[in-house]
Amino acid sequence: MQPIDLRSDTVTRPTPAMREAMLRADVGDDVYGEDPTVNALQQRLADELGFQAGLFAPSGTQANLLALLSHCQRGDEYLVGMDAHTYKYEGGGAAVFGSIQPQPLPHAADGTLSLETVEQAIKPHDPHFARTRLLCLENTWHGRPLPHDYLEAARSLCDRRGLSLHLDGARVYNAAVAQAVPVRNIAGLFDSVSVCLSKGLGAPVGSVLLGPRGLIEEARRWRKVAGGGMRQAGMLAAAGLYALDHHVARLADDHRRAAELAQGLRGLPGIEVVAQHTNMVFLDLADGRVAVLKDRLEAEGIRIAAGYGTRLRLVTHLDVDDHAVARTVAAFTRFAKG
Ligand SMILES: *Cc1c(COP(=O)(O)O)cnc(C)c1O
Repeated sequence: MQPIDLRSDTVTRPTPAMREAMLRADVGDDVYGEDPTVNALQQRLADELGFQAGLFAPSGTQANLLALLSHCQRGDEYLVGMDAHTYKYEGGGAAVFGSIQPQPLPHAADGTLSLETVEQAIKPHDPHFARTRLLCLENTWHGRPLPHDYLEAARSLCDRRGLSLHLDGARVYNAAVAQAVPVRNIAGLFDSVSVCLSKGLGAPVGSVLLGPRGLIEEARRWRKVAGGGMRQAGMLAAAGLYALDHHVARLADDHRRAAELAQGLRGLPGIEVVAQHTNMVFLDLADGRVAVLKDRLEAEGIRIAAGYGTRLRLVTHLDVDDHAVARTVAAFTRFAKG
């Protein structure tokens, strides 16, 4: 029986065709800027998202860190959601490596940060305070694409108050596909964007940071400092290029399957479908049953991520087909009714 892994869209393995593309990649030393495949990937994403330049990084965490280090100096501050990846799940990197102070803010139910709250958090010019430089948003947020008019309002606020605006766009292609807009319509509202190739796009490694040339040059310096300068990285970049050619439109299949999964689980006793957006389904389970469910599913070859408390997250991706969705619904049904 094929194992089904619903913990995250990071678990995908490169397809045979992607591996072929990696094998064939033309390579050079990327620390010297001489890897043609890395350069092609960076340029391709810069063009597609509407930026001057891009920088290939080993992970999304590093791409976001490079953005923070390039936008902010020591003693500067960034405004960020208190549950955002760039605040909560990156080891406090901006503070650790950059002496940059985060100002975490609460999220509304739809994941947005109230722009009134953002504005109130901007510090006056006064030596008592850190210098507020940057607002960071995340799209998709727990699978949810942020509304376009919200992003536009955030852009005007940043323009009006002299802040830069960074997007953690780990899953920005999911947002673009779900909203049926070109990805540059979203990305173009930001001063910089990080994109993960190793989530729903299905590459084994890598993220790209996009921005204006000066910012990307600064980020290139920080990437070397952080130990992220890779040599013949074109073999990895080739996987990213392959993903951009072949795995973007199919994100709609992941979204459809997540919707079918949510539909199949709705109404099962003891299981509440809390939300489904793009490729993610969130469930709430009667207390104490999470561990039992996890073990039962594991025995049937299905892996899920237990979050905090009674909350569960299921994520669809390249390695989850229609049959896997049906098998998962059947296993949950046996658990709920058994
Ligand atoms: C996965 C992810 C990242 C980057 O994570 P890495 O594992 O370092 O590539 C950043 N932001 C969000 C929202 C993510 O889901």
